[in-house]
Amino acid sequence: MKCQLPGCTNVIPKTRKRSAKYCSDACYYEAKKERSTQRYSSLKAPKDEVKNNESILAFLYNVASMNKPINADDLTRYHFNFGLSTGEHFDKQKGPCKIVGKYAYHINPDKSLIVWKLK
Ligand SMILES: [Zn+2]
Repeated sequence: MKCQLPGCTNVIPKTRKRSAKYCSDACYYEAKKERSTQRYSSLKAPKDEVKNNESILAFLYNVASMNKPINADDLTRYHFNFGLSTGEHFDKQKGPCKIVGKYAYHINPDKSLIVWKLK
């Protein structure tokens, strides 16, 4: 099967998981970035939605600060809108991160979630 990132003609290596649509993490993030920019520009981040997302992150941030594990499913459970953010950021160690108001988050490949407060 071929990588589904437009413009990439690589074949997906067998070493990647069977459901993989892209040949590499780089292509995966590229495709994700494209999707979220498109969604962002067509959405214009309504204030209430940003508030809602931000309060979910604030809550999970507090949960994590009590040393309880949090993951992407928690976001889904609280109806987090993954398509909505107020900014993006590429962290050298963590990789791509999304910003919602005063919080930023990153989802690891194992779905564990990191939330932190911006200064
Ligand atoms: Zn590719």
